[in-house]
Amino acid sequence: MFDSVALRARLVNVRERIARAAGRAGRDPAAIQLVAVSKTFSPDHIRAATDNGQVDFGENKVQEALGKMEALADLPIRWHLLGHLQSNKARKAAAFHVFHGLDSVALLEKLDAAATALDRHPLVLVQVDLAGEASKFGAEPAVLRQIFAKAADCRGVTLGGLMLLPPAVDDANDARPYFRQLREIRDALRSDGVPAPLLDHLSMGMSHDFEVAIEEGATIIRVGSAIFGERGPI
Ligand SMILES: *Cc1c(COP(=O)(O)O)cnc(C)c1O
Repeated sequence: MFDSVALRARLVNVRERIARAAGRAGRDPAAIQLVAVSKTFSPDHIRAATDNGQVDFGENKVQEALGKMEALADLPIRWHLLGHLQSNKARKAAAFHVFHGLDSVALLEKLDAAATALDRHPLVLVQVDLAGEASKFGAEPAVLRQIFAKAADCRGVTLGGLMLLPPAVDDANDARPYFRQLREIRDALRSDGVPAPLLDHLSMGMSHDFEVAIEEGATIIRVGSAIFGERGPI
């Protein structure tokens, strides 16, 4: 079992911190979506969060997520799939409402075909690999342009913005340049003529740095441990 009172308190605390960060940046807190990252936590944890008004949940493993979706099918949850996706899982990924992690034209085509066949319409965010970053996944700027050039051909999925998983830093402020760079890439794509709605979202910021991400323009933050507590070894 787990402590649902503590979970509620952490969720309330995160919401207060979101409101304060938005206030500092002169932004409307309602324009920031909180995705509760529930990977490794049980359906009971998720249910307790929904009891406190949480609607968006994020998972990073398709199989684990599908099990939770089934167990919680009675709840109106919006499921987000986070991070790298192997192309042989594209069909299953079409079951999510939002996919944060598209990193190639080939995956976009697969996902779009799968979503079209299933009559699903996931929103897709493109994961960006910032130059000089030693991350394993994400699209480089040149690939980004190719991906957005394909958007008009998509019938199942809709592109909705950019996602960033910056390198781990000790001080949240050290993540600021990465967040700022993602925003600048978004602005540059808009100036290049990518239609604005395809770039509505910046998915950036996690438990240790979401306030900085909000100050730099995040519209979606992905917060796990600050809501659910520390994850055990996996
Ligand atoms: C696990 C995870 C998060 C949440 O991390 P916390 O540090 O627990 O907030 C956010 N984004 C992605 C892609 C993740 O895998």
